[in-house]
Formats: sequence, C-alpha cells, structure tokens
Amino acid sequence: MAEHLTKVLIIGSGPAGYTAAIYAARANLEPVLVTGMQPGGQLTITTDVENYPGFADVIQGPWLMEQMRAQTENVGTKVVYDYIEKVDFSQRPFVCTAQSGDVFIAETVIISTGAQARWLGLESETAFRGFGVSGCATCDGFFFKNKPVAVIGGGNTAVEEAIYLTNHASHVTLVHRRDSLRAEKMLQDRLLAHPKITVLWNHVLDEVIGQDHPKAVTGARFKNTLDGSETHLDIDGLFIAIGHDPATQIFKNQLELDPEGYIVCSSDTRTSVDGVFAAGDVQDKVYRQAVTAAGQGCMAALEAEKFL
Ligand code: FAD
Ligand code: NAP
Repeated sequence: MAEHLTKVLIIGSGPAGYTAAIYAARANLEPVLVTGMQPGGQLTITTDVENYPGFADVIQGPWLMEQMRAQTENVGTKVVYDYIEKVDFSQRPFVCTAQSGDVFIAETVIISTGAQARWLGLESETAFRGFGVSGCATCDGFFFKNKPVAVIGGGNTAVEEAIYLTNHASHVTLVHRRDSLRAEKMLQDRLLAHPKITVLWNHVLDEVIGQDHPKAVTGARFKNTLDGSETHLDIDGLFIAIGHDPATQIFKNQLELDPEGYIVCSSDTRTSVDGVFAAGDVQDKVYRQAVTAAGQGCMAALEAEKFL
C-alpha cells in the first residue's frame, strides 16, 4: 500500500486522460495517471480509425492509444495500472483510494473515466452474455466465422460493428428500433450497400434463445414496434451496440451529475468542486469523439495549471 502525492491526479487513460497528462507533464506538474480497467479506453476495442486528424491513412484504435500512452510517459507522467474505487472531494488536497489500497493525495483532479457499453437489461441477454451475446464485435466477431449474427442499435457503433462482422459472419442483420439510423451518412451508405447485411427496421429484442449444453445462442425473437408482431432469427451471435453510460458511480454525492449521470461542467471543464475538472465522454454526451475528448483533456490540464 503506497501513498502518492501529486499536484494533478488524472483518473482514466482514454484520449482525454492521456492528453491531459501530456499537457500537465509539459507544464512541469508531474502528473500521476491511473489507467483503470481498460488502459487506452474505448478505442482499444475498435479497429479502423479514420477521423483522428494527423493520419492520412487509416490507423488502428489500439495502436493510436499505445502511441498516446508512450507519449504520456515520455514527457514525464507517472502511469499507474490501478482503479480508483473511492474519492473524497470534501476538502483539499483531495483523497482518492485505489483498488490496490494505494492512496492518491492530489491538489487537483482531472476526471476522464469515459463511458461504458450499455445493455438492454433482459434476463436472457444477461444469461447468454459471453455465450453468444457480446458488447464488442472487434473482440468477439472472430468466434462467429461463417455463422449468422445480429447487431442491435442504429448509431455509429452498431453500423461499424455490423460492417466489421461481415469479415467473419455468413450474414449480419442489423436490428433497429426505428425506421432511420442515427449513424453518420457515410457509414449508413456502406451498410445499406453491403451484400451480407440486411436491416430489420422498427424491431426490438424480446428474448435471446439458446441451449444449455454447451451453452450457446441459437436464435432471438424480436418484436415489431409498430404492430407488435414477432420475428424469429436463427443466429449464433448477438451484438448489443446501443450506446454507453458515463463511468461516474464513484462521483455520486461528490460532484454534481446530470439526470443521466454525466458530470456537470462549465465549458472550460470545471466541475461543481473547485480544483476538480472533467474531460471527455464522462461529461460530453453530444460529441463523444476521440478528438473532442483529447481537446477537452488539453483544456482540463491548462485549467488545472491555472488553478494551481
Ligand atoms: P474512454 O476512452 O472511455 O476512456 C475512459 C478511461 O477511464 C479508460 O481508460 C478506463 O479504464 C478509465 N476508468 C474508468 N473508470 C475508472 C476508475 N474508476 N479509475 C481509473 N480509471 C478509470 N471516436 C472517434 O473519434 N473515432 C472513431 O473511429 C471511434 N470509434 C469508436 C468505436 C467504438 C467501438 C467505440 C465504443 C467508440 C468509438 N469512438 C470513436 C468514440 C471514442 O472512443 C470516445 O469518444 C473516446 O474514447 C472517449 O475518450 P475518453 O478519454 O473520454 O474515455
Ligand atoms: P449512440 O449514438 O447513442 O447510438 C445508440 C443507438 O442505440 C441508437 O440508434 C439508439 O436508438 C439505440 N438504442 C439505445 N437504447 C436502445 C434500446 N433500449 N433498445 C434498442 N435500441 C436502443 O451510441 P454509439 O453508436 O455507441 O455512439 C456513441 C458515440 O461514439 C457517438 O457520439 C458516436 O458518434 C461515437 N462513435 C463514433 C464513431 C466514428 O466516428 N466512426 C464510431 C463509433 C462511435 P435511437 O436512434 O432510436 O435513439
């Protein structure tokens, strides 16, 4: 069990956290960054990244985050592979306790804990999670070689996952609860033109159907949102891609959160507690992009420096 004293504690290692660390380190603030359970954040579970500026060719999400981590350390950040379980923002310096028992005593804190995949909450979905029901196509798509699968959702993630899964699956059905997608136009065009993808419009998941020995998904029943009729699909894999929730459990009762759990921030990343800043998907439910998270990380570090 160790005690770490720091001017700036950064919680989270996605684009927001790493960028905050780069700026804080270059301001000689000797930041400490705690990575959490997913070092590199959400981009480590995707493949192609085409919209992060500075790269003319397509790059890979895990590679980009590895570069950010290396840059963070090269400029002098102490990166700690741990998870913050408890924070006390009632007085300064702030006290944050990690899973290992280590305690971080910080003059300022930058929160960049991002967001986590959302689930539908059906019993059958939970029962088959890890046995055919997945929240990450790039992680699990490989297991469905030449097998039919379905993806639920209508945003960028769902459409990208459906397109990615055509590399493995025999057929992909995208199931969406409305009659239009919210994914960006370019992705929609690719999806709708793809010969291995069909879209089941106006349907929601009713039940995942499967067997116990060996435990596996064999199909799913969907309900039409317009007329209530049911559709059965024979599928081996079901990917839930319906968005994310901000990782803010540990900040309840410490910071002001909005009704959906996002940290309430001023436009310059200040939270309801002086000296605590927030950047990236944990406070931004509008843009939610790597580049905007990185930009907010930069802002939070500059604000922390000004505050100190
Ligand atoms: P995240 O990347 O979510 O990182 C959060 C970090 O916080 C993680 O390291 C986690 O371990 C850590 N953490 C959480 N809780 C704790 C804790 N208690 N203690 C310590 N650490 C903690 N955006 C694009 O711009 N282009 C794309 O092509 C693109 N593709 C995407 C593909 C997929 C499949 C997904 C899911 C998202 C994609 N996005 C893309 C969105 C992009 O990944 C996010 O906007 C971005 O990662 C947000 O960065 P962040 O730093 O705010 O948080
Ligand atoms: P999102 O944009 O919030 O989309 C979630 C989708 O799931 C929506 O289509 C929504 O339907 C549907 N949905 C939500 N709850 C549902 C439920 N209970 N039952 C059925 N369907 C449900 O989430 P996302 O696609 O994960 O994207 C998150 C952020 O990351 C976005 O800002 C996105 O732009 C970004 N991102 C960017 C890229 C890229 O730039 N290439 C790639 C991936 C993600 P409705 O449409 O009806 O609301």
